[in-house]
Amino acid sequence: MTRPIRFNRPSIEGHELDYIRAAVEGGHTSSSGPFGSKVAALLREFHGAADVLLTTSCTDALEMSAMMLDLGPGDVVVVPSFTFVSTALAFARQGATLRFCDIEPLTLGLDPVRLEELMDERVKAVVTVHYAGVGSDLIGIQAVLERWPRAELIEDNAHGLFGRYRGRPLGSFGRFSTLSFHETKNFICGEGGALVVNRASDVDRAHVLLDKGTDRRAFLLGQVDKYSWRDIGSSFGLSDVLASYLWGQLEQRDRILARRREVFERYQAALEPHAAELGFRLPVVPGDREQAYHMFYVLLRDRQQRDAVLTYMSERQVQATFHYVPLHSSEAGGRFTDRPADCPVTERVSDTLLRLPFYNDLDGETAEVVIRTFLDAVRASERR
Ligand SMILES: *Cc1c(COP(=O)(O)O)cnc(C)c1O
Repeated sequence: MTRPIRFNRPSIEGHELDYIRAAVEGGHTSSSGPFGSKVAALLREFHGAADVLLTTSCTDALEMSAMMLDLGPGDVVVVPSFTFVSTALAFARQGATLRFCDIEPLTLGLDPVRLEELMDERVKAVVTVHYAGVGSDLIGIQAVLERWPRAELIEDNAHGLFGRYRGRPLGSFGRFSTLSFHETKNFICGEGGALVVNRASDVDRAHVLLDKGTDRRAFLLGQVDKYSWRDIGSSFGLSDVLASYLWGQLEQRDRILARRREVFERYQAALEPHAAELGFRLPVVPGDREQAYHMFYVLLRDRQQRDAVLTYMSERQVQATFHYVPLHSSEAGGRFTDRPADCPVTERVSDTLLRLPFYNDLDGETAEVVIRTFLDAVRASERR
């Protein structure tokens, strides 16, 4: 075991390098190539989706969902404050107004009770994040949306690929859902993402938006005899070089998930006996959800303790980190919203959450050092 113990360490899991070579030698290195088709088919089947389009990032896929819904000035989108910037940015970029919703304290997902308070007829979309790959309260959120039928659900599922809620895949509930294959996620290709299209009538237009606003796909399928500019769009498609890397990863999905699960369970088993005594809280996965093992976090007593633990661990070269700076408190968040946010749970979690190093091949010896250093850090912070 070598120090520093890094927070994240991308790994080669199977035939990624062979496939990258094959993609380059095969000559189709732009988007919609042979490896991209395999990845899209696998993801389509898993989600039971109408289609899955590979994009250069999850941010792009979120932008596409905003474009698909024709969101713009006058429209409101509800997003969690406790999330990565992209969840909000993609909608602000389309000119929509944001409203920041608080999370519920158990799973750190969007709180349906707080969501209801933010709804009115201007709300056109609600974005939920399945934090840490644990499903947010989809039944509760859907119940709110049934009362506001003009608002569409979008799942930012950057953490939760292959997770489930009551047996059903995360990412299959919203009109759209989005995935990330950024190097910090469970399945990676450097930078990459996907738009999961759950409604058949959205498929054709989604391909036009992906392909610079042209009907090139219909042309390639022989549906039109020349292709031309039809709509808004951009160059959102993922290179087949990156899709080949991603295919190498997804082929090993069971192995990757099993290894991440092992890391999670090792941390959980070692920390659980100390939680009550030392006053920290571990992740909760409700019995009706299968998580995707994206991360392991701990909630500490207050910000002072959390920051002291982070410093202690960092001095011993164990890279832990925090998550997220609440978006409603950010400079841009304030600029794009139409009302002051009330997100006390987000603020408390943001102050007290600490993420431990987490990657596929984090072995038992390394985990032991992380656990020991963390417990020592908490005890040291108690003595101050
Ligand atoms: C990583 C992440 C994103 C952005 O993903 P990119 O592929 O880097 O654009 C969006 N939302 C959440 C919740 C994320 O964790």
